Amino acid sequence: PCTDYDMAYFKAYSHIGVHEEMLKDHVRTNTYRNAIMHHKDLISGKVVLDVGCGTGVLSIFCAFAGATRVYAVDASDIALQAMEIVRENELSDKVIVLHGRIEDVEIEEKVDVIISEWMGYMLLYESMLGSVIFARDKWLKPGGLILPSHASLYLAPITNSHRYQDSIYFWRDVYGIKMSCMMPLAKQCTFMEPSVETISGENVLTWPTVVAQVDCYTIQAPDLETITAAYKFTSMLQAPLHGFAFWFDVEFNGPVRQKFKKQASQPLDVNMQNSNPSNKKKKADVSIVLSTAPEDAPTHWQQYWRPMVR
Ligand code: SAH
Repeated sequence: PCTDYDMAYFKAYSHIGVHEEMLKDHVRTNTYRNAIMHHKDLISGKVVLDVGCGTGVLSIFCAFAGATRVYAVDASDIALQAMEIVRENELSDKVIVLHGRIEDVEIEEKVDVIISEWMGYMLLYESMLGSVIFARDKWLKPGGLILPSHASLYLAPITNSHRYQDSIYFWRDVYGIKMSCMMPLAKQCTFMEPSVETISGENVLTWPTVVAQVDCYTIQAPDLETITAAYKFTSMLQAPLHGFAFWFDVEFNGPVRQKFKKQASQPLDVNMQNSNPSNKKKKADVSIVLSTAPEDAPTHWQQYWRPMVR
């Protein structure tokens, strides 16, 4: 059943702003397009299901890659716009937009490929991975392709001196008035809530740890209920610890996982300059990765920061 929460959630996705933000995130959208084109052989002549199609952008990329039919499903009213967009691109014979929840819609056939952009902040926050699992179990043919196929959630201790200066030390001198007595309150208020913001590579104190790994081919809904990880770290920098940052990446592998992926944990800014291009793995062996790591090109997900009051 559709809850009030669902209603509010789908209403949020009927506004143009969220879709504009996602489409203007070139790292996100281009990586999806590259992944679709990379797997052209598995998409061409096949049937695709786009879980949460939004404007239909990924469905249309799949049609460009030669899909025979694409079922584009979205419960939000943006689906009505997707129908128009499909028509405007003269793809109505290939892309079938269904306005409804993936859990409720009826599709006429099983599909060869599932594509979805389901990732939320901290990967799983408000994420629709559960709906992708549902779609996989109900509609994907055995041996079918899921894009993205794998996801990892990372955690690392960070220092955030700029934020500290901006929000805490600010109170030392306000127009020549001493307001240091405000600092404890400022610390409490500023660093109480987790926030989504840009954390740069140089704020990361040491190698991240992997908190969770998701294999979209095999993960089950109960696996998502709680995630625990133990983590012990030694800072590689002398700087105050201001909290922990989370970020994620997703990989676009075929039903068989690639041997290598670009190590999200490796190049902190410092190391990046020293990295030796001849170390690069052969392109064919490397899977396509959409990364939201501090050292990689920024995306609309930014990073998720859990501050610590100190
Ligand atoms: N694929 C688009 C939009 C991604 S945003 C793009 O890449 O730009 C995720 C979309 O999934 C939203 O439009 C939201 O309304 C939809 N969605 C989330 N859960 C869903 C569900 N259970 N059934 C159908 N659509 C869903």
